Order: sequence, then C-alpha cells, then structure tokens
Amino acid sequence: MKYDVVIVGAGPAGIFTALELIRKNSGKKIIILEKGLPVEKRSCPKQKTKQCVQCKPYCHITTGFSGAGAFSDGKLSLSYEVGGELPELIGWQQAQSLIDYTDSIYLEFGADEHIEGVSNDPFIKEIRKRAIQAGLRLVDCPIRHLGTEKAQHIYYSIQEYLLANGVEIEFSANCTDLIVEDEVCRGVRAVDSHGAEREYFGDDIVVATGRRGADWLEKICIEHDVEHRPGTVDIGVRVEVRNEIIEDVNKVLYESKLIGYPKPFKNKVRTFCQNPGGFVSQENYDNNLAVVNGHSYKDYKSTNTNLAILCSHNFNQPFNQPIAYAQKVGELTNMLGAGHILVQRFGDILDGKRTWQKELAQSNVKPTLPDAVAGDITAAMPYRAMTNIINFIQAVDIVVPGFASPETLLYSPELKFYSNRVRMDENLDTSLRGLHCLGDSSGWTRGLMMASIMGVLMARNLTK
Ligand SMILES: Cc1cc2nc3c(=O)[nH]c(=O)nc-3n(C[C@H](O)[C@H](O)[C@H](O)COP(=O)(O)OP(=O)(O)OC[C@H]3O[C@@H](n4cnc5c(N)ncnc54)[C@H](O)[C@@H]3O)c2cc1C
Repeated sequence: MKYDVVIVGAGPAGIFTALELIRKNSGKKIIILEKGLPVEKRSCPKQKTKQCVQCKPYCHITTGFSGAGAFSDGKLSLSYEVGGELPELIGWQQAQSLIDYTDSIYLEFGADEHIEGVSNDPFIKEIRKRAIQAGLRLVDCPIRHLGTEKAQHIYYSIQEYLLANGVEIEFSANCTDLIVEDEVCRGVRAVDSHGAEREYFGDDIVVATGRRGADWLEKICIEHDVEHRPGTVDIGVRVEVRNEIIEDVNKVLYESKLIGYPKPFKNKVRTFCQNPGGFVSQENYDNNLAVVNGHSYKDYKSTNTNLAILCSHNFNQPFNQPIAYAQKVGELTNMLGAGHILVQRFGDILDGKRTWQKELAQSNVKPTLPDAVAGDITAAMPYRAMTNIINFIQAVDIVVPGFASPETLLYSPELKFYSNRVRMDENLDTSLRGLHCLGDSSGWTRGLMMASIMGVLMARNLTK
C-alpha cells in the first residue's frame, strides 16, 4: 500500500499533522495507523468497576484515537514555556505563533472560549510574591481547559473531519518496524488484531507514538541507526489536598506552574498537571507497570485538588538508560503495593512511618483513587528524589499554606518518560531520510498543545 504520508499514532501530534495537511489543501494521500480504537469506542471500565481491570490488549486511557489526550484533563497550555523543549529547536516566537494558531483550531472544534490564569489581578501578584519568598518561580501560562468529557467530543469531531476529508485511519494496527532500504525510510510494518502483518509505504513516515511508544521508538532508533540521545526522566509523586487548601490558586490560575531547585541537590523540581476538583487516576503500561496520573471533568467535581511534583533526572556516562531506571523505581513501588498505586500521608513520611489504610479515613482529605493502597512510598523512592520532593513541598507551603500539612496525600509512582530525544533539525527531519518523529515519543514535547503544534509544523514542512 503506497501513500504520500504514513502517520503512526493517532495522538494529538499525529492527528494535527493530518488536519493541517488537509487545511493546507495538500492533496496528499494520508494514512494513520493506530494500535487502539476509534475515540467513541474507548471507555475505561474503572468508572464502573472502581478498580483498574488492566484492559488487554491496550489501556483505553492512553491508546486509541486522540492518544493520551482523550481521557486527559484537556488542559491546553497556551505558553511556549510549558509542554516540552520544542521551542529550543524551532525558536520561541515560532512556537508561540503555532500555539496561537493551533488554539484557534481547538476553538473551531468546540473548545471553551474561557481562558484561565491570564488576568494580572492582585491575587496573582500575591501568589507570585509568596513564590519569590519561597525561592520558587511562578511561570506565566494561560490555560484553556477542555475537561475530560469535552476533550472526547472535540477529538471525535476531529476524527470525523479527517475521515470525511479522505484520511484513511486503520485502527488496531500495531506498528512493529520501519522498512528501510538504501538508507531511506520507505514505510512501516504493522500487525492487525488477528496477527496479520501488512506493509505500508510512504514518501514521508511520521512516527508519533506518544509516551507509551517511547521505549519502542528507542529500540527502533537503535536498530536503524537513527541518531538520538537519552533525555530526561521525571520521577515524582502525585499530591492530593482538599480544595479549600489551594482554592486561592485554583480560582485565579487554575494551574500553578512552580519551579524550584531545592537544597541540597539543587535539581529542577516542578509542579505539573494540576486538577482542581479532580481525580487521581491510574495508567497501565503494556509491561503492566501501573503509574499514577490525574484529571478533572468540566462539571463533575471532587472535593480535592491533585497535582504532580516531578524531579528531573539526567544521567551521564557510563549509564544511559533513563527509561529503564524509572521503570525499576515504578516496579519496586508496584511490588510494595501488590500491583496497586501506593499512597502515603506527608506527615507519616516526615515521621518515618508507613501509612495504614484505616488512618486514611481519619483525614479531611479522602483519596479520589479508591484502589490506591496505603503504605510506604519512601521504601521505593530514591533518596535524592524523595529529599527533593519533601523540600519542594515545604517550599510550596509558603505559597499555599497547608500544602505541607500532615494529612496531605502523596501517591507513587508518578513517572514521566521523555527519554530518547531523537535528533532532528528545525524541519523535523531525523538522521534517517524519510523519517520524522513527533510528539511525546520524540522526546521534544510533553503536553497536548506542544504535541499538537509539532503536528501542525510537520504538515507545513511537508507542504513546503
Ligand atoms: C491521564 C492523562 C492526563 C493528561 N492531562 C494532560 C493535560 O491536561 N494537559 C496536557 O497538556 N497534557 C496532558 N497529558 C499528556 C498528553 O495527553 C500528552 O502529552 C499528549 O497526548 C501527547 O501527544 P502525542 O500525540 O505525542 O502522543 P499520544 O497522545 O500518547 O498518542 C500516541 C498514539 O500512538 C499510538 N501508538 C503507540 N505506539 C504505536 C504503535 N507501535 N503502532 C500504532 N500506534 C501506536 C497510541 O495508541 C496513541 O494513541 C495527560 C496524559 C494522561 C495520560
């Protein structure tokens, strides 16, 4: 089968490539290969079962049309400062102008017009003042919040638009390898749900397999000699507090992007993915690794707010397997939780004791992840990461009094794999002719908007 453009992965990066190719009237014959299902067929059974049932062959939360975007909180970060390192490759002005353009497409497909965190009101100034006192930086980032249920509607409309405009989308197509001839990437091999293998040829092969596809892409890069380097992994926790504790920030900013470099290590530690009135959730990777995440609905709210605190880890010679390192931390934590996410109270960590299930019931804050198991996350967390997290939480307490209270919940493992930064130029060409890598799997993005703009940029480069 021969196409102009073969896109692997129907996450935001892949679908915005196809969308922009259509909007530019490129006339290109496009196919998207996606190992999951159409967006309307994706549903997480946990809403009914209350327990993760480890869906096979793939987790519905991260796999299928719109990728990890479908069940995400749908927070579009509208600043080039948030969502990945793509601006380092293409320049911040271009990144910001692509964000503004891509945001207008989300609006066309039904995104809420309201933007959080833009006003220069006295409350934001007060939060910034406290952040400065705490030695933290407050990043300015307007947010458009789609909400989990709205995000699914928007991506459904995009899916129908692509199909109506002639884009072929093959679902349950798991791409297994690249076809490389004469040092040019000519196509890909994919296996369908019955195990039958097919080959798809294209002038341009765009791989956008997301965070879950990062280790597969690393393997492919090694096999086909595509230049890449180990990137950063983030190891951290998901923190949950009562809304009352953090509502001043929720009201004016929706999301507080705080960055600090706490002593003694002075590593970068940051807040990420804040969900006011949200729910802590579990994601399962194909290798059965269970990691924690969070999201929030537009209308259905909990009494809690959750957010991630992440510590970036870079490695030097002789070790260059950051994904494997973070996986080991995750596996160890899963082992202690008998396959479940572990949760511990901040006060218990400071007191050097585990948390017991019955103690959770004594707090104001009740876990929104009901099958999380009370235990001791410090038994699996590396010392450096744990120290960074404790010191960072105590600094955030100056900005948000009560954040470091004894009952604050810490869930683990919260891992973000952005490794394997594929070497690319500003045209998004890799060292293998014909191959382009986009979105979270490329190591250059880590958010919906940044992945989406990389797709738009790819399409523009393909129509030059
Ligand atoms: C629960 C959750 C909440 C989140 N909330 C937010 C948020 O509020 N704001 C934000 O900015 N970001 C959020 N994120 C992150 C965001 O969803 C990702 O950054 C974004 O989706 C990345 O887009 P992508 O296109 O690079 O990859 P993905 O969205 O991961 O899509 C990759 C696609 O490729 C497919 N695929 C993988 N391997 C193969 C293969 N071998 N063959 C065929 N198909 C393959 C996958 O099934 C998937 O559909 C959240 C993520 C999760 C999991």
